This record gives sequence, C-alpha cells and structure tokens, in this order.
Amino acid sequence: MAEKTGPFQKVVVDQDICIGCGACVSVCPYQALELDENGKARLIWDLCKDDFSCVPVCPVNCIWKTSEAPDSAKGKANWYRFSKPLSDAEKKEFEDWKAKYKIAWAPA
Ligand code: SF4
Ligand code: SF4
Repeated sequence: MAEKTGPFQKVVVDQDICIGCGACVSVCPYQALELDENGKARLIWDLCKDDFSCVPVCPVNCIWKTSEAPDSAKGKANWYRFSKPLSDAEKKEFEDWKAKYKIAWAPA
C-alpha cells in the first residue's frame, strides 16, 4: 500500500471523557495513539494519517475526526504531542492545521 501523504486532519480526544480502555491505541495502524501518564488516550500528532479506525471503536465516543470535534475538546490541554521535533514542512502543516480547525492549545 502506498504511503498516504498529507495534509491530514488528525483526530481530537477529550481526555476528561476517556476511560483509558486502550481500544483506540490497539486499532491505530500508525501507532499514533498512546495512553499517557494519566492513563488517557493521547494523539501523537505527526504520526496520524487519517484512516480514522480509532473513531468508531471508542466506547464513550470521545475521539473524533478533527473536523467533527467539539470546540470544548479542542480547547483542552495535553491531548496531543509530537513524536520528535517537527521539520520545517511539518511546522507549516501544524500551523495550518491549528488555524483551520481552531485548535486552542499546543505542546510547549
Ligand atoms: S485517525 Fe488513524 S492514524 Fe490517526 S490516530 Fe486514529 S487510527 Fe491512528
Ligand atoms: S477508545 Fe476512547 S475511552 Fe478508550 S482509550 Fe481511546 S479515547 Fe479513551
């Protein structure tokens, strides 16, 4: 299968609703989700390639395509990180993504 190319819309997780079941982590074919230090699902932003296998498996419906996510979830902190320092091209994609989807928080 050919590697998918971006830009990708990614997904948003509401960690306040997440019960840490790990289902989304298990089905992600790109290892773009993990359980964080609090046992909540966290997106690894640069690894997500928009196949959206994670969305339907969540038992509490707290993970969405970014285009369909509530603003309340987008405004929370710590629900995503990067796997590595972003390249210049990735930085531009990230800034475009934040602006397009009105993402209010970014990792330090
Ligand atoms: S959309 Fe796909 S690649 Fe992205 S986190 Fe969900 S399962 Fe993983
Ligand atoms: S499937 Fe839903 S509840 Fe389970 S870890 Fe993922 S986001 Fe949290």
